[in-house]
Amino acid sequence: MLYQSILIKYAEIGTKGKNRFLFEDALVKQICHALRQVDGRFDVSKEHGRIYVQALGEYDYEDTIEALKKVFGIAWICPMFQVEEKEFESLKREVISYLNQVYPHKNMTFKVDSRRADKNYPRTSEEINRDMGEAILEAFPEMKVDVHHPDIVLRMEIRTMVNIYSEMIPGPGGMPVGTNGKALLLLSGGIDSPVAGYMVSRRGVKLDAVYFHAPPYTSERARQKVVDLAKLVSVYSGPINLHVVNFTDIQLYIYEKCPHEELTIIMRRYMMRIAERIAAESGCLALVTGESIGQVASQTVQSLAATNDVCTMPVFRPVIAFDKQEIIDISEKIGTYETSILPYEDCCTIFVAKHPVTKPNLKMIRRSEENLAEKIDEMVETAIAGREIVEIRGI
Ligand code: ATP
Ligand code: MG
Repeated sequence: MLYQSILIKYAEIGTKGKNRFLFEDALVKQICHALRQVDGRFDVSKEHGRIYVQALGEYDYEDTIEALKKVFGIAWICPMFQVEEKEFESLKREVISYLNQVYPHKNMTFKVDSRRADKNYPRTSEEINRDMGEAILEAFPEMKVDVHHPDIVLRMEIRTMVNIYSEMIPGPGGMPVGTNGKALLLLSGGIDSPVAGYMVSRRGVKLDAVYFHAPPYTSERARQKVVDLAKLVSVYSGPINLHVVNFTDIQLYIYEKCPHEELTIIMRRYMMRIAERIAAESGCLALVTGESIGQVASQTVQSLAATNDVCTMPVFRPVIAFDKQEIIDISEKIGTYETSILPYEDCCTIFVAKHPVTKPNLKMIRRSEENLAEKIDEMVETAIAGREIVEIRGI
């Protein structure tokens, strides 16, 4: 096993002042959670703006890196040699041994970049850089110094122990889940909403989700697809409670009582109303949707305004200004695309009018909704009370 230790660097959470320890603790917790799926045992600890993952014995290196790449809040993953002995001759031997093991071919340029957190250390950073550089040149004459554009930067951090590393694998960025409250994701079977959930979760927000289905017009397989998408999002976001709401009666009632070109907007307004109720019950402070300006009739600015009209909670629409291809690129990167494009019906598409309004008039929409007065409140209560909750555990 080449590496026993991995240094985790974080960016943004380092700037949180007095609350910093909360962020660090959340990150340690998320790292532990992610590593539970990996073959191996680990000790995860924090020390002065750094988090260390120490492998206790044999472990699966590739899987470990893959798991860490999904932990929000991590900026860089640096596999390293960590040594206790700080005496310079001994450090030289460690660095030579490091380079020998990590780089079989030495035809490359380098520079040494050292930090001295331990100010009692008898050499300054500049002296370490210079003396270690010389030692490397002596051991490997084919290597050359390039301080401006080196192939590798050999980093040395003199702390309680000495960290030696040169590989820096990018993490997903963002903030650790659990540091920014909880939001309810309106999750459909499409491409956009899983991406929206991923993006909000990346800012440290924990997620629950709601899915509206319309059996028998929508199938069990369509429902399963949404459960699968929630699982894929939960790889990043951690556990999700997925609320599955039966929307059939409400849709049929709207279909019966309202002008057909307004169906989609009215339906979406009821989705938002129900979502808000479920959000409030489950401690969520905001809704998340995958809406994007102009994508379909129900996402013109006028339609978005008409849908938003019923919401009192903040609605986060992280892909609002993205082009479809940009959303697809993210969904491919995070691994939801293949599932999203499976061809199962969505409850929205079943009752759509041939010519839905693209510029709904809010007054008219509200008037049409008055036609629902007799039964709609009860139907909403029934839908909420009868919802099924699927617990998705995360990885
Ligand atoms: P997506 O790709 O996410 O399905 P879409 O482009 O198909 O989005 P719409 O069907 O208009 O767009 O839905 C807009 C947003 O409304 C979705 O991104 C999702 O957040 C929410 N939504 C739509 N249908 C449902 C549903 N059946 N259950 C839960 N949320 C839904
Ligand atoms: Mg959709």
